Amino acid sequence: MTRVEFFKHSIGDEEIERVTKVLKGLFITTGDEVAEFERAMAAYLGLPHAVAVMSCTAAMQLAWLAADIGPGDEVITTPLTFIGTANSALMAGATPVLVDVERSTGNINASAIASAVTERTRGILPVHLYGQMCDMDAIQSIADKHDLVIVEDAAHSLEAQWNGKSGGHYGDYACFSFYATKSITAGEGGIVSVKDAGKDSFLRKLRLHGLDRTAEDSYTNHFKQYDVATLGWKYNMDNIHAAILIEQLKKADAMQQRRAETYNRYVEAFSEIEEIELHSIRKECAHSYLMFTILVDSSRRDTILEELQNRGIGVSVNFYPLHLFTFYRERFGYKQGDFPVAEEIGSRTITLPLYARLTEEEVEYVIDTVKDVVRNIGK
Ligand SMILES: *Cc1c(COP(=O)(O)O)cnc(C)c1O
Repeated sequence: MTRVEFFKHSIGDEEIERVTKVLKGLFITTGDEVAEFERAMAAYLGLPHAVAVMSCTAAMQLAWLAADIGPGDEVITTPLTFIGTANSALMAGATPVLVDVERSTGNINASAIASAVTERTRGILPVHLYGQMCDMDAIQSIADKHDLVIVEDAAHSLEAQWNGKSGGHYGDYACFSFYATKSITAGEGGIVSVKDAGKDSFLRKLRLHGLDRTAEDSYTNHFKQYDVATLGWKYNMDNIHAAILIEQLKKADAMQQRRAETYNRYVEAFSEIEEIELHSIRKECAHSYLMFTILVDSSRRDTILEELQNRGIGVSVNFYPLHLFTFYRERFGYKQGDFPVAEEIGSRTITLPLYARLTEEEVEYVIDTVKDVVRNIGK
């Protein structure tokens, strides 16, 4: 029996009322609600433009295409992430080049990026792992030196900052996810922030078949034939998802605050436990507190994972290093040992429940159970 779910969304009456209004109205695909959500996201981030799509992976693919990065180009990223991160480069026709991560945070190692730059490198794809932003000053200076485009995978870091700036301020593009287990969600969804107005309108074409008009244009104004001047994709967000996300975004900071309390309680409870190691948070970083992970001995990790689930706690592994997936091994010849730090974290990490609706009793149950299991099981 599950006693503590791994994740519960916080969709409430406000979201349900707003989406109901959309469903009772006329226009359910990309329209007013999407435009309003894009304005709200841009304002939240303090950036001029944001283009809503149906996933963060799509957002990253379109960012590469908008930056004119594709076949023959290399993009440097981390193996300690979700598969969609590196795949976004492949989806644009570019080649992802992996480098190892920092031991203390799990984030991509900036000096490893600097060493991996070749004449084919065109982009850097940092992932703000678990909600802690990467060293964006170091990454920005590498990008400036070699004239590289930065696309941030900000799927974990909506509310996070590095030296007071959120995702999208250092990078040319930042991509956010509204997948079911992210800090704000509509089940699925994504958005890409962009600073350049010309790129903003290009991204709007890329997300909808390359059309130079939207369905809403054709509805609100009289029909006028559209033209297609570029290959586009079918990634546009609809008013239904946007309605939910407008209300979710209003709650983002309050939910982050609630997660911070739980995160700090976990840190307090686990930092003295000999069998547990924790990642550290760098002083330049304001964490989004999306995920809380512990590191245990790799030889006991799977046993501990299994026992926590037997005792009713939802857990996960973030992440199995993606270079060890069959597709990446076969396509790029990666093997065990290529990225030792990512492999070590991947073999030792366990993600515990962390979300705004977690109750104090649930948190204490997780703490007591984890302590008991790491001390007593599989030794
Ligand atoms: C969830 C996630 C993604 C993918 O987001 P989608 O919206 O599902 O495409 C990308 N990167 C990271 C780090 C993620 O956790």
